[in-house]
Amino acid sequence: MKDIRSITYTELEDFLLSINEKKFRAKQIWTWLWQKGVGSFDEMTNVSQALRTQLAESFTFHRAEIAIEVNSKDKTAKFAFRFHDRRFVEGVLIPSGDRVTACISSQVGCPLKCSFCATGTMGFLRNLHYSEIVDQYILMDKRAHELYGNGISNIVFMGMGEPLLNFDNVMTAIDKLTAKDGWGLSPTRITLSTAGVIKGIKALADRKFPCGLAISLHSADPVVREVIMPVTEHNNLHDLQAALVYYHQKTGARVTFEYLLLSKVNDSRQAAEKLARFCRPFPVKINIIEYNETPGGLYHRSYPNQREEFIEYLQSCNMVVNVRQSRGQDIAAACGQLLQNQQ
Ligand code: SAH
Repeated sequence: MKDIRSITYTELEDFLLSINEKKFRAKQIWTWLWQKGVGSFDEMTNVSQALRTQLAESFTFHRAEIAIEVNSKDKTAKFAFRFHDRRFVEGVLIPSGDRVTACISSQVGCPLKCSFCATGTMGFLRNLHYSEIVDQYILMDKRAHELYGNGISNIVFMGMGEPLLNFDNVMTAIDKLTAKDGWGLSPTRITLSTAGVIKGIKALADRKFPCGLAISLHSADPVVREVIMPVTEHNNLHDLQAALVYYHQKTGARVTFEYLLLSKVNDSRQAAEKLARFCRPFPVKINIIEYNETPGGLYHRSYPNQREEFIEYLQSCNMVVNVRQSRGQDIAAACGQLLQNQQ
């Protein structure tokens, strides 16, 4: 049996015609699924009971559930979502001022094995379906209203997984979230973060990706980067830079680089110079991230003076630099700490 949220609009219309229902019912059902975000056929109150029963006999309706919620003292909330096959991913809500940012996952686990990231240690289990990505939004948006009195204002694809290795599902999920007849979120409030999958970056450029793009760069030295981020082996820095030039040409957008400072690994003056040189061809913003401890982690945070010197050098090159405050560390909800450990 197919899942009701994996079929197209035309397939839904065809199904309705095949059971002698009016085609326009498709619109009603579609609105329940992709705008109101219901979790069962029974919630489709303007659909007759007979049709609801027929739908339930013909399709599954897989809806994720919140299996665990942990609330941090800094108001960050971490969620474990459970899917129909009992796999889990994590998502995080981060309130600040009027904003509520939702950090969502794109894969169960991750194939990339970045040496500093907890998610990499669990390996890759499967891609998320677009409905499973949207479910994280629907469920966390409801909780955001309850917890903070505001819904989600921003979405970052910075949870588990590499979004560009689940390209089609991530794009469809973004379409649903931004569609005028969907949730209508502004694409400028959505950011996709990638470890630097070149094929995916080019594909984003070709479709004039309207959302923000962040690159987890973490080193502009080819040797160091390949050690800490094995994805570099088949996506080298030279080609990554060329892909970003292309991206900038196609979209006109400024790219954000995330740079995780690891003591004695990528925080020297030379490392800062290499970073500045790497960024020369396009306008960028640098987000400095502090290392969060992970179970069995190999690294240490940079010393504050080392960090300051690194930042000052970049600023002396007229680069825009932010230090990103990592939140939710007391509940292991911070960057790189998302790990499936509930099975
Ligand atoms: N795969 C995508 C999406 C994950 S984003 C990507 O790599 O961009 C998660 C962010 O947290 C990335 O920038 C990642 O490099 C960073 N991160 C991973 N481990 C971390 C750690 N231990 N401390 C701080 N940030 C970490």
